[in-house]
Amino acid sequence: MIIVMQKGASAEALAEVERRVVELGYQPHVIHGETRNVVGAVGDERGKEVLQTLEVLPGVERVVPILKPYKLASREVQPETSEVEIVPGLVIGGQEFIVVGGPCSVESQEQINESAVAVKSAGARLLRGGAFKPRTSPYSFQGMEEDGLKLLAEARALTGLPIVTEVVNPRDVELVAKYADVMQVGARNTQNFALLKMLGQLDKPILLKRGMATTIQEFLMSAEYILAEGNRRVILCERGIRTFETATRNTLDISAVPVLKQQTHLPVMIDPSHATGHAHLVPPMCYAAAAAGADGLLVEVHPCPEEAASDGPQSLRPADFAAMMKKLKLFVDAAGRSLG
Ligand code: PEP
Ligand code: MN
Repeated sequence: MIIVMQKGASAEALAEVERRVVELGYQPHVIHGETRNVVGAVGDERGKEVLQTLEVLPGVERVVPILKPYKLASREVQPETSEVEIVPGLVIGGQEFIVVGGPCSVESQEQINESAVAVKSAGARLLRGGAFKPRTSPYSFQGMEEDGLKLLAEARALTGLPIVTEVVNPRDVELVAKYADVMQVGARNTQNFALLKMLGQLDKPILLKRGMATTIQEFLMSAEYILAEGNRRVILCERGIRTFETATRNTLDISAVPVLKQQTHLPVMIDPSHATGHAHLVPPMCYAAAAAGADGLLVEVHPCPEEAASDGPQSLRPADFAAMMKKLKLFVDAAGRSLG
């Protein structure tokens, strides 16, 4: 249920609604809108009719059921797109289209520094790099773990770029949070509910990737796990889904962007690298993402893709990344945004 407050309802009226929601056994989540506040009452769906009685309280305009299974993620609760602040002056979900660039894995100080300098000079606003890698084969490179996080922190100090890095195991949440500016949940963990609940308790932005076989509704239910724990800074990322097609590594579901934009207020990014699996297919999908209304991109870039420890074939060389960024600006401008 959502309790829609009247325009200009007092702080006392809002506090009273919150108090009554708790009394009825639900969790109140206040969303401060531009013109009015709403209170999401989240909890056991059975007996939710009792919440309807709150309509008589001072300052309450109406009480409406949310028909979608996800509540806090839905646009019904919050019509304005969420602006997720990463660091002061850097927002995902606002007017600026934000590009994250960097290698699949952190491999050495030289490699991550070189990547960071290259993506920054081409216009990327954040650096990506995996220190904990969820590899399909147990024999593949598993990542540099904490040493990799330290190298990322050095690259951040060098360039000023905030870091996006993945946490694979719930046991490592605290460790990764010590270094990361944005915690990434990979496609293989989209429905790791124990991990999502832990991330919901952090005061840190979460980049949640869509699982390779999760529907949009399931994807939004995963976001709901994080939101329901109190962390509102969730960014969604479409990275391709598994289909019968083998020409590409996955199939980029570009229509997920407008569908998500309709259903949720959370920002939406596109990862064209894992979606396609081939470097030459990445730039066109970057342009498509901007045209479709995405809020940004997560792109794999490696100073020497042929030597990459993981995902070399889909990684752009710095020069190709820079050329893509130049052309991307035309699409971002056409979409009415600015390249941040
Ligand atoms: C990655 O970003 O390197 C990664 C492993 O992505 P995904 O979880 O989308 O496969
Ligand atoms: Mn990768």
